[in-house]
Amino acid sequence: MKIGILGGTFNPIHYGHLRAADEAREKLGLDRVLFIPSGSPPLKADDIADAGQRLKMTELAVRGNPYFEVLDIESRRPVKSYTVDTLTSLLGTYPEAELYFMLGIDAFLDIPNWYRPDRLMSMVNFVLMSRPGRSFLDIKASPYLRPDADLLKKMDNPGADPVTVRLDTGREIVMLNVTPLGISSSDIRKRLKSGASIKYLLPEQVESFIILHCLYTDENKKN
Ligand code: ATP
Ligand code: MG
Repeated sequence: MKIGILGGTFNPIHYGHLRAADEAREKLGLDRVLFIPSGSPPLKADDIADAGQRLKMTELAVRGNPYFEVLDIESRRPVKSYTVDTLTSLLGTYPEAELYFMLGIDAFLDIPNWYRPDRLMSMVNFVLMSRPGRSFLDIKASPYLRPDADLLKKMDNPGADPVTVRLDTGREIVMLNVTPLGISSSDIRKRLKSGASIKYLLPEQVESFIILHCLYTDENKKN
């Protein structure tokens, strides 16, 4: 069994996450994709919704897709979870499965700043997904992946087929072009703050939840 894992703040979840996850599922033949919203950070910024609300929005968003599942292993914990700990727990739950940790180029480039990055890179396989604003060529800066520049340049062609690179750790990284959707949670929050529409950027049920709970507006901050 092949299982994809998409972690994120999901503040809020949007079509960029959902579409990338579904394309990765289809291209890699994943049996399912687990969405794992993060817990509350120790120092709560004022534009981050509660862990329970982000979990709920993620559940609303994946409803109707039989391949998608939401796990609350990070959001139900009172302290911040590290990805290495989450993966340790998943490796225990699915000992027979091949796990693929999925992330956009922006998140992949941030891994050296995460807790125990070397350990993380040796635990599971990775799916590295394209994201507008970043190019595969940027991966040149990563200490974990050093394919030649020509290959990366080729990957920056949106029609390029997925490429699998084997790491020294024995794990693999699949570089995958997904339909470019220039959507981000921060942009959605910015729009809400200024009173602009967020229609068609995220599922309707998530939009309704945000409006019902007055999330990401200045009024909400005062409460
Ligand atoms: P923020 O703007 O608050 O950082 P975000 O849109 O980047 O939010 P995250 O929850 O930080 O969303 O991202 C979770 C994962 O999904 C990351 O690996 C990120 O790279 C990936 N991702 C988010 N949006 C897209 C997108 N539009 N296309 C491809 N990957 C995406
Ligand atoms: Mg982000």
